[in-house]
Amino acid sequence: MSEFDLIRRHFAEATPARADVPLGIGDDCALLQPPPGVCLAVSMDTLVEGQHFFAGADPTDLGHKALAVNLSDLAAVGAEPAWATLSVTLPQANSDWLGGFMRGFAALAAVHRVQLVGGDTTRGPLSITIQLHGFVEPDKALRRAGGRPGDRVCVSGTLGDAGLALQCLQRDAGGQGVSDALRGRLHRPVPRVDLGRLLRGQASAAIDVSDGLLADLGHICESSGVGAVIELGRLPMSALVAAEAARGNWEFSLAGGDDYELLFTVDPARAAALLQTCRGAGHAVQEIGYLAADRDIRLVYPDGQVKKEAPRGFDHFKV
Ligand code: ADP
Ligand code: MG
Repeated sequence: MSEFDLIRRHFAEATPARADVPLGIGDDCALLQPPPGVCLAVSMDTLVEGQHFFAGADPTDLGHKALAVNLSDLAAVGAEPAWATLSVTLPQANSDWLGGFMRGFAALAAVHRVQLVGGDTTRGPLSITIQLHGFVEPDKALRRAGGRPGDRVCVSGTLGDAGLALQCLQRDAGGQGVSDALRGRLHRPVPRVDLGRLLRGQASAAIDVSDGLLADLGHICESSGVGAVIELGRLPMSALVAAEAARGNWEFSLAGGDDYELLFTVDPARAAALLQTCRGAGHAVQEIGYLAADRDIRLVYPDGQVKKEAPRGFDHFKV
């Protein structure tokens, strides 16, 4: 099958056709028509075999996850997703693999009305890059900067499941002992796009938790010029991660990566109403602490002990 056959078969009509795409896949460029008055929010993420996923990983999971991690970045600024471009590098023209990949990609794209408008297909070691474009009003976009001392720190969903799943899969090759629910938290993350839209113009700062709570809270603190106090007894955890914490192992909830939950801060006068609005819309959100004027991150353990922590989490270039 030629490169052009592959493109036609797998990409051209995989995703919903949007009215703001006068020209999509098939020409030298796509032509895109953003609505008036918004900023384009643009994010890009790459998944490399052996680095971000196991060799032989399920292609449908990968198609989902490659798009989900970009959707999560858009969620973190409060943007509405619209257009994606996709660069795929494959060891050989493998139509079965691409078909599986695009099933995962297209199913999630349909949920968020994202159109695939172009891309590139090349031969080489397996790697996937997606660039996602969305819209957000410049005065309502959420940023890492903007948190102030006293603001409440809140997080969606539960923390540490994906990290725990990864460890279980690594220890138990084949992963028979890993439940589908836990495995799904690693392979099929749910980007919190609707929650991000709700937080627009309401939260004082936000980030998606991709590298672990401490690392990503550290980014908010650094950008906002503040510190934070986090009460570990309030961290939202699934039963399995909570069991680890009860044994004194807080690594999963504090430094596990790949959660793709939203971490946000909000003025204390607005916090209760905002959390209620979020919950009313069906989002699990939990207050876990507050921002502080000094630059430290302090963890309050359930027994009352307080420990200073440095931001830490996953870093590709750490030696
Ligand atoms: P060019 O040689 O002009 O760069 P290509 O032959 O690479 O064009 O691509 C032809 C068309 O197919 C373009 O519209 C391009 O955006 C699209 N395309 C190629 N690969 C992908 C892909 N992986 N996903 C989506 N669209 C793709
Ligand atoms: Mg060209």
